Amino acid sequence: MKADFLIIGSGMAGMSAAYRLSKYGKVIVLEKESLLGYHTTGRSAAFFTENYGNKIIRSITKASRYFLENPPSCFKNAELMTKYGGSLFIANKHQSKLVDKELNYAKSLSANVFEIEKKEVLNMVPVIREEYLDRALHEPDSKVMDVDLIHQGFARGLKDNDGKIIFNSEVQKIEKNNNLWKLITKNDEFVSPIVINAAGAWCDEISILAGCNSLNLAPKRRTVIIFDHLKDINTSKWPVVIDIEDNFYFKSEAGKILASPADETDSPPCDSQPEELDIALTIDRIENATNFKIKNIDHKWSGLRSFFPDRTPVVGEDPSRSGFYWLAGQGGYGIQTAPGISKIIECLITGHNWPDYLYDLSITPETLSPKRKI
Ligand SMILES: Cc1cc2nc3c(=O)[nH]c(=O)nc-3n(C[C@H](O)[C@H](O)[C@H](O)COP(=O)(O)OP(=O)(O)OC[C@H]3O[C@@H](n4cnc5c(N)ncnc54)[C@H](O)[C@@H]3O)c2cc1C
Repeated sequence: MKADFLIIGSGMAGMSAAYRLSKYGKVIVLEKESLLGYHTTGRSAAFFTENYGNKIIRSITKASRYFLENPPSCFKNAELMTKYGGSLFIANKHQSKLVDKELNYAKSLSANVFEIEKKEVLNMVPVIREEYLDRALHEPDSKVMDVDLIHQGFARGLKDNDGKIIFNSEVQKIEKNNNLWKLITKNDEFVSPIVINAAGAWCDEISILAGCNSLNLAPKRRTVIIFDHLKDINTSKWPVVIDIEDNFYFKSEAGKILASPADETDSPPCDSQPEELDIALTIDRIENATNFKIKNIDHKWSGLRSFFPDRTPVVGEDPSRSGFYWLAGQGGYGIQTAPGISKIIECLITGHNWPDYLYDLSITPETLSPKRKI
C-alpha cells in the first residue's frame, strides 16, 4: 500500500498529526493494538494547565488553547474542555519558599496565576487539612479536557480527508530504498517518502529499526487511582489540586476522586500496570494532605509518560535519515500540547508558513528539532 505520509502509532500524537497532514495527501496510520487510545493517551489525568512543565511546554500549551476552545468542524461542536475550579498548587510550611519561586516563574511567562488566601483555599476544597496547608497559588483558567472527544475528533478529521487507521498492524521492520520508506507488518507492506514516528514509549525502538541513533527517550510510569470519598460533599466545582513540588495531585472525577502520587519510575516500553507500592504511596500522600480516608479503590491504572533528557519533545526530521520524522517525548503534556505540536510537524513537513502565534511564543522550527543538544 502506498501513502504520502505513513504514521506509526495512533495515540494523540499520531492522530493529531494525521489530521493535519491529511489535508495535503494520503495518510495511513499503523497501530499495533486493536483500538484507539489503548496506551498512554487513554490513561491520562486530562487536565490542561499553563503552569506545568518547562518554558517550552508552557508556550506550546498556550499555543494549543485556542484550538481546544474553538475546534474545527470535525469535532462536531463538542466542548473539548470544561472549566471547573481551575488548578490549585498547594504548599505546606516546608515548601513555602517554592510558592514565591513558582509565582515569579509564572509571572515571567505572563501566566494568569496568583496567590490566594488560605481561607479561600479551604472554602474551595474543604477536605484539605488546615494544619497541612501553608500557601497556595490559583490558576483559574486551567481546565479539564475530554481526551476521548479530542482523540475521536482528530480521527474523524482524518477519515473526512480519506485517511486510514489500520489496527493490529505492528511495524516490525523498516527499510529504505530509492528515497522510499517501507514499513513491514506481519501481513502487509506500506510505502511512502515520509514516515512519522509517533509510537509513544516505543519511539526510540522505532528509530533504531529505521537505522537512526537513539535519542535516549525514557518512558516513566505514573500511577492513578479512583476512590469514592463517601461523604456528602459536592466536588464537581473543585479545582485540580496539585502539590507545588508535584508529589501528588487529585481532582473530582464523575463524583469520585482521581489521585496520583505523580510518580516517575523508569520503565521499558510496555503495557504498564500499577504497582502496589505506588498505590500505597498515593494513599499516604493524599491522606497526609487531606481529611480523606481511602478505604476502597474503585479503579487503578498506570501509564508511561516518555521524556527526553531535556524534558522537551522532539519533533522534526532525523539528522541522518531523510524523510524520517520524530514526534516523540510529549511527557505528561501530550494531550494539552497536541494542537500546537501537530501544527509544528505539519509546517516542518509541508513547508507551510510558520504561524505568527508560535513565533510570538518564541517557538521556532528549531525549538523541538532532533538536531538540538538534547
Ligand atoms: C497517568 C498519566 C496522566 C497524564 N495526564 C496528562 C494530563 O493531565 N494532560 C496532558 O496533556 N497529558 C497527560 N498525560 C500525558 C499524555 O497522556 C501523553 O503525553 C500522550 O498521551 C502521549 O501520546 P502518544 O500518542 O505519544 O503515545 P500513545 O498514546 O502511547 O500512543 C502511541 C501508540 O503507538 C503504538 N505503537 C507503538 N509501537 C508501534 C509499532 N511498532 N507499530 C504500530 N504501532 C505502534 C502504540 O500501540 C500506541 O497506541 C498523562 C499521562 C499519564 C500516563
